[in-house]
Amino acid sequence: MTERFDVVVIGAGPAGYVAAIRAAQLGLKVACVDQWLDIKNEPALGGTCLNVGCIPSKALLESSELYAHLRDRIAIHGVRVEGARLDVPAMMVHKDQVVRELTRGIAALFKANGVTWMPGRGKLLRERSVEVTGHDGKTEVLQAGHVILASGSTPVELKAAPLTAGLIVDSAGALAFDEVPKRLGVIGAGVIGLELGSVWRRLGAEVILLEAQEQFLTMADEQVAKEALRQFSAQGLDIRLGARVLAAEARDGSVRVRYQDGNGEHTEQVDRLIVAVGRRPNTQGLAAEEAGLLLDEWGFIHVDEQCRTNLPGVYAVGDAVRGPMLAHKGMEEGVMAAELIAGGTAHVNYETVPAVIYTLPEIAWAGKTEQDLRRAGTPYRAGVFPFAASGRARALGDASGFVKLLADTATDRIVGAHLIGPRVSELIAQAVLAMEFGASAEDIALTMFPHPTLSEALHEAALAVHGRAIHVAQRKLGV
Ligand code: FAD
Ligand code: AMP
Repeated sequence: MTERFDVVVIGAGPAGYVAAIRAAQLGLKVACVDQWLDIKNEPALGGTCLNVGCIPSKALLESSELYAHLRDRIAIHGVRVEGARLDVPAMMVHKDQVVRELTRGIAALFKANGVTWMPGRGKLLRERSVEVTGHDGKTEVLQAGHVILASGSTPVELKAAPLTAGLIVDSAGALAFDEVPKRLGVIGAGVIGLELGSVWRRLGAEVILLEAQEQFLTMADEQVAKEALRQFSAQGLDIRLGARVLAAEARDGSVRVRYQDGNGEHTEQVDRLIVAVGRRPNTQGLAAEEAGLLLDEWGFIHVDEQCRTNLPGVYAVGDAVRGPMLAHKGMEEGVMAAELIAGGTAHVNYETVPAVIYTLPEIAWAGKTEQDLRRAGTPYRAGVFPFAASGRARALGDASGFVKLLADTATDRIVGAHLIGPRVSELIAQAVLAMEFGASAEDIALTMFPHPTLSEALHEAALAVHGRAIHVAQRKLGV
């Protein structure tokens, strides 16, 4: 017998599991199909983000930062540590434990909300039927009132650098090295390449990042990108721009990488190579031909502003659709799809999706960059405040970077926030909140911030928009 659900979700990453939970909260009968198998070959929820993405990378960034802090910076606080030793297997056990606890947490949330978890591969057939092929190969067909496709993304592979167990790896492989490579190559100096390169650099590897683009971090504000390149280079990350990888080959336990830049061809020998050249939507075989699901030329599922596909009653959310490939963007889309299915109203504000790079310094932004505003011919004012003038940042012993707010000249509304420095992954939410509420620079300037906190830098940046910052001479800021 065909089982009937109000909603069948395919994919249990952040977009899919959030959609499933919200739909169940709204009183709908929900099933969520996911094919993920964990390192023990057991079905696990959470998708890329929890298993091989956001969470394990942040666990390793935290652990490696603690080690680098003890080794390189704790002495400035008058604390002497001798004999600090690295235990990579223990670090991996911690990471795996964090992942396991969180993926099991999603299973518990499914249970608490009455979501039916169906391990296996889902395929959209015609008329909102979904075929589920279990890990034992058995198939069954579900009938759904609505379907939410949340199949996520997978790493782009480079033909020139074929993955080779343990030696040439993708991001998932780079989260599971069993020792610190002496020399590590990374293809791609984007968000993932920088985070993973930072982990292994902090643990002692010599790290070379080969980036095809001539400019560094093109999606970030230019001033932030410049400061980031300066600081990363000072940390010993060897970032080579305009370097296109032509071929990589694993032989005798190491990897030879051939690349080309403005000066011709070069070869590097590294112990391991991470391929971090982007991600592509996971949509191959997701829908049967007869379902008629429309994909775009890059394989993303075609959707409108509210994540409706071309098929009635079928939504698609997360990395499998247009927009930034970020967990929180997918989660908000998942909630929106569930609300719409339940007959509510919902929308996602794509103007304020925050982006974060969890390196040291951290980098975070939302809204328009200065170069965006210049290109669009929008008159704006910039207010910048350096962490060097923040008492709290000084006390932390990490006073690098700055907060920059961009306000529309005509309305004074905040249209962009660009932060680089200590813990800015947490600070950016305040700027997003302000933007979501349509706050002006003056609104933030009139708000009281606790002293001494890093958040005061945001307050001062808002004051600086009108040349009123207190704790730094405006001349110094070039205002
Ligand atoms: P996914 O998380 O990819 O989940 C999709 C799920 O669907 C998977 O479980 C997959 O197995 C399943 N699936 C696919 N097809 C089928 C099918 N036919 N049947 C059944 N199941 C199927 N984002 C951030 O916001 N912050 C970060 O700090 C961050 N760090 C990252 C670090 C790394 C190393 C990586 C690789 C990514 C990182 N990301 C980060 C990106 C983030 O992981 C993704 O944006 C997010 O996971 C997308 O969620 P999703 O639900 O759309 O897809
Ligand atoms: P992201 O999309 O943020 O994950 O970043 C991926 C990065 O990889 C981009 O900055 C690309 O320019 C870069 N890239 C893609 N292909 C190559 C290549 N063959 N050699 C070097 N860098 C590459």
